[in-house]
Amino acid sequence: MNPTLNIDVAIIGGGIAGLWLLARLRERGYGALLIESDRLGAGQTLCAQGIIHGGAKYGLRGYAGPTAEAVAGMPALWRCCLNGEDEINLHGAALLAEHQYLWATHAPTSRLVAFFASKLMRGHVEKVADGGMDASDYPPVLRHPDFHGAVYRLDEPIIEVASVLTVLAERYQDAMVRNRGPAILKADGNLTLHHPERPQWVIRPAVTVFTAGAGNAGLPWATLQLRPLHMVMARGVNLPGPLYAHCLGASEVPRLTVTSHYDATGRLIWYLGGGLAEEGIRRDRREQIRAARRELQALLPWVDWNPVEFATFTIQRAEAHQHGGGRPATASVFRDGRVIAAWPTKLALAPLLAEQVEGLLQTLKVPRRPVDLSPLANWPRPEIGVYPWDQEEMEWS
Ligand SMILES: Cc1cc2nc3c(=O)[nH]c(=O)nc-3n(C[C@H](O)[C@H](O)[C@H](O)COP(=O)(O)OP(=O)(O)OC[C@H]3O[C@@H](n4cnc5c(N)ncnc54)[C@H](O)[C@@H]3O)c2cc1C
Repeated sequence: MNPTLNIDVAIIGGGIAGLWLLARLRERGYGALLIESDRLGAGQTLCAQGIIHGGAKYGLRGYAGPTAEAVAGMPALWRCCLNGEDEINLHGAALLAEHQYLWATHAPTSRLVAFFASKLMRGHVEKVADGGMDASDYPPVLRHPDFHGAVYRLDEPIIEVASVLTVLAERYQDAMVRNRGPAILKADGNLTLHHPERPQWVIRPAVTVFTAGAGNAGLPWATLQLRPLHMVMARGVNLPGPLYAHCLGASEVPRLTVTSHYDATGRLIWYLGGGLAEEGIRRDRREQIRAARRELQALLPWVDWNPVEFATFTIQRAEAHQHGGGRPATASVFRDGRVIAAWPTKLALAPLLAEQVEGLLQTLKVPRRPVDLSPLANWPRPEIGVYPWDQEEMEWS
């Protein structure tokens, strides 16, 4: 007979969605256990740019209404958590920057998009100054006499993603296990935990929640869509300091989204997404690096880009399927009997996902019981994954 453990909720997948949900359920008294097959954050989470969106993109798409309002509340909620003032206590995790900027070039279309976005996001956007006027509040790289665009400051902080994962992993370590194999869900709702050197454990949850990102595939009642991105990273002493900004073009997708990070040796990394990454899926690595150089040269011509090194990688965003393949407006949660599948759509929206899942648990009348997880005390715990810029196999040139 395999050893067996009865629990309230099994959470499959330890990206931001699974970790936030674990924290919320544990704080609310549920006997929850998180099962991760690789490392924490190893899917999309450690590839995220870390922007806690407050609706800038909704503004660009002209959305309003309850979804936009819920999203607009995310920066304040995350700040509370980071200050240790919420039940999800992220004290000890770091912010990379307090604000993301919107930056319009002098092209009339770019300025127009920025102007309308700022009107739609009233209260969450502040115009810094027009190019050429008092630009002391500009991000350092834009404080240049040749910069003639407009800059808006968004109420969107940027988090240091690994530090958030680390705080959650340390706080709820007793409630997470590494599974070496698929967490096989049987028809009776039981799961088996595998490890090459240990007897299999049978986990009997009242409810199972899949927060496995692309690993949620295979649940026919919750279909997944994968949207690829070709992300670019840049490093080198010539990088002109950290920058956190969306550069606007003529459409709702920013032409370029830049965030800045530090690798394991403390070197500054510019991480480039937005239109460059969306359109870049049609380009191979070399073409994508060329496109990135061209874009940076066009937007910031006063920087010498020649000595800067680049690397690229492709990754799929995993979300609930949408007709037309667009991005879902918010977190998506589906239920079939006692199995739930969920995608946050955005890292920033993990709190909304957790709230919705908890609502379903209440509907299902799942009891909140203190569960003794000590029988799993010696089971291996999942480690934190590695950022793309720290991956040894990444090719820089
Ligand atoms: C390039 C990029 C940039 C982004 N930038 C931002 C941003 O700036 N701001 C923002 O809010 N959002 C951003 N996002 C979106 C955000 O990253 C995702 O919405 C979010 O990280 C998804 O989290 P998740 O926990 O659902 O999935 P994931 O992070 O993919 O985690 C899934 C986890 O499940 C595990 N798993 C898979 N299968 C199994 C299994 N069978 N058993 C056990 N475990 C399993 C995986 O190993 C992984 O750890 C970005 C996404 C990408 C790709």
